[in-house]
Formats: sequence, C-alpha cells, structure tokens
Amino acid sequence: MSETGGESSKTTIYRADWVLPITEPPIADGAVAVRGDTIERVGTYDDVSRALPEAETVAFHHTILLPGFVNCHSHVEYAVFRGILDNRNFSPWILDFIELKKGLQLDDYRASSRLGVAECISSGITTLGESMYSGTSLDVLNDAGLRGRVYQEVFGMDDERLDDTLREYADLLDELEERAGKLLEVGIFPHATYTVSPKLYQALGELAAERGMKIATHLAESGAESKYIKSGTGMLALDLREKVGWDSISHEPFGVSPVKYLQQWGVFSPDMLAVHCVRVSTKDVAILAKYDVAVAHCPKSNAKLACGIAPLPAFMEAGLRVGLGTDSPASSNIMDMFGEMRTAIFLHRGVNRDADVLSTEDCVRMATIGGARALSMEDQVGSLEPGKQADIIAVDMEHSHMTPINDPYAALVYGANQEDVFFTMVAGRPLYERKVLKTLDFEKINAEALAVKEKLQG
Ligand SMILES: [Zn+2]
Repeated sequence: MSETGGESSKTTIYRADWVLPITEPPIADGAVAVRGDTIERVGTYDDVSRALPEAETVAFHHTILLPGFVNCHSHVEYAVFRGILDNRNFSPWILDFIELKKGLQLDDYRASSRLGVAECISSGITTLGESMYSGTSLDVLNDAGLRGRVYQEVFGMDDERLDDTLREYADLLDELEERAGKLLEVGIFPHATYTVSPKLYQALGELAAERGMKIATHLAESGAESKYIKSGTGMLALDLREKVGWDSISHEPFGVSPVKYLQQWGVFSPDMLAVHCVRVSTKDVAILAKYDVAVAHCPKSNAKLACGIAPLPAFMEAGLRVGLGTDSPASSNIMDMFGEMRTAIFLHRGVNRDADVLSTEDCVRMATIGGARALSMEDQVGSLEPGKQADIIAVDMEHSHMTPINDPYAALVYGANQEDVFFTMVAGRPLYERKVLKTLDFEKINAEALAVKEKLQG
C-alpha cells in the first residue's frame, strides 16, 4: 500500500506474541498495522511486515494484543462511591445510595467521573455504554479521548409533569449532542421500571424513534423490582417513593414480570439495551429475543447486591446480543472487565454444573465484539479487522500468573487482571503507554477524588 505523505498516513505495525482478532482465530507472532485512526492490516508479523515494508514496527514482548474492551454498562461518575455501600441487599443499597448522592455537587461528580475514566483507560476499556446522571461524564470522556455512547438518565413518575419532563429532556439531549465529540454518541436512558412511569416510557420510546437514538434501561434487576411491578408492594413501592416524593402518586400492581410490563410501552426494539435481566423467565427471554433487545450482563454487580444470576446460557441459546458491563463502582467497586469475565465463567459453570456452558473464548468475545454488537457499534469496534477503528490494548503476560500460556483466551480469563494492561489505544491514539495515562493527570485526579470521598463520608 502506497504512502501518500502527511502524519496521518504513516503506518505503524504493532507486533506481539499473540494477536487476538476475535472474529478470527488467535495469531501467534502476530501484528496489527494502524494508519491514522484505522486498522490497515492484521496477520502474522511476517505477512504484515512484508506487505508494508515502509512501516515502522513497535514490538511488544511477552504480550497479547486484542481489541479494547467494550464495557456495555457503566456509571463512571460514581467512582467515589466505591467501598461506601459494600454490604447491602439491593433495596437498602439503592435507598442509601439516593441519600448519599444528595451530598455531591457538579464539580464533585466531575472529579468522580475523572477517576472512573482513568480507571477505564488503564484497565483496557476503550468503549463505554455509559449511563449519565450528572452530565459530567460526557465531557470527561471527550477530554480523555475515550469512545462510547453516553445515555442520559431520566426519571419521572408524576404524569402531571410529563410534558415539562419531556421538553426539558429534549433540550438536554440537544445540548449534549452539541457537546459530544466525534467519538461519542448520545442515547436515551429511562432509569428503571420503578422510577419511570408507563407514559414516560412510551414517550421516550417515541422520542428515540423520532431522533434515531439508541435507548437503554435497567430492567429486571432485583426481586424487589419484580415484586413492585407484580404486586405494587415492597421497598421500591413504599420507601423509595417516599424518599423521592412520589408517595402521593397512585400506582397499580401490574401482575406481570418487569419484561412483560415493559413490552407494553413500546420501547422494545433492536435499538434497546436492557441492563441486568436477572429476574427473567423463559417467556421473558423469548420476548427479548422477539424484539431483538440486547442485554448488558453485569455478573459482579448482580451477585454483590444479592440480586441473583442472570440466565446467560438462555440468552445465548435464544441468540440475544449480550455484552458485559461493570455497572457502577457504587455496586461492583471496580471497572475491571477481567473480573467480569472471570465472575461470569465461574458463576455460570458453578450453578449449571457444566464446564461447557461458557468457554473462555465466549467470555472474551462478550467483552469485545459481543459488547459492540449489543451497542450496535460492531461496524466500528469489537474486533481487529482492516477498516475498523484502531481501538487496541496490550496485556503483559510476563508475570507468573500468566505463565506459561497454552491458550491466550484462557490466560486472559483465568489469569490476567487490570494491572496487566500496559497500553490502550483509541482511534489510533495511545491513551495509556507503559502504564502512564497520556490524556489525564492521575495524581491530580486521585487527590481530587479523595477529597470528594472524605466529604461524602463526613
Ligand atoms: Zn446501572
């Protein structure tokens, strides 16, 4: 391929012991050639270097190269909440969380978002399906150079305010779309079945279709949610409504599952990402499959909050698009996709008493191309293929916990952790090199986040 001159047309070849294209088998002594923001070629080092003799080579030793992780569901702005609400069931957790959030100002959220984003980059996450509450994570992601879709959360049970809520929300989406840089997209996020009224869900479904925007929601996460939808009782019907001032608004028991409930409000389509889906029946899975709804599987958060284990094998059998999500540091503490892969494989093999239920390759696929498909971004990211965006990470396999390597997928899932990532590139731009953040000042970020944490703990 000929060079046409100029900085962006320079090709660099990244060479590693293993290259995992994900959509093709692993390549020993492999290479990925990058030009500008795009992957130009993938193959054995011999083939790539022969095809591109002019290109400069960066050789990584004892390394696995793979596409950056796609974290389908995150809340980076809650990084400072880590470790504060550690040992609670879901309902008391969310009530305490709502209370704690009252103590934070916009600048505090910004500091928290920076800590979260720094953690994502240094653990090899290159694309986020971020749920945003405060409005700060979009700017922080922009500044740091990460890719993703930022879904703006929306809440509302009071239908008398419906028109105002929708008008304000549409204005906010306009403003966010203006602020989003070229690596970010804006999406719609009705928070959950117990915080959004049926009418608001319907209106948001219509808004998403009108604007051609993707939509996501927390769905069927806890037993408390199922109880609230089915019988109109429990902590989400009483304590939560009282806490947020909705206790004077009447609500009815709907007598169905959360999935069946949401199906009625016209929000299910291939553009919908349903987060969690723990409390789902075989019939619910069939409904999700019928509308081609994608699922964000968050095994650590669901287990830690004692919500349960989502039926991932049933999702896979039904052909659902499934990605992995770390959820919020307020629930799962760390945004580490290795931890999510490991938790997923152990939980599902353990409860199913079957090692064939989930392979290590399935886990790495879910953390990369699976997540990209769930977010409908598979034409850009999720695998190393010519023409796709150069979102690439390097994992150090020199440590004893990774040695010797027979199977790179198994090494990543069973052995590696976020500390083993030493290089993260998004759109051809290195954001993390030799374990140093290139677009963020970690010392400063950490100090600011610690100050917010102290304030939170009073
Ligand atoms: Zn969430």
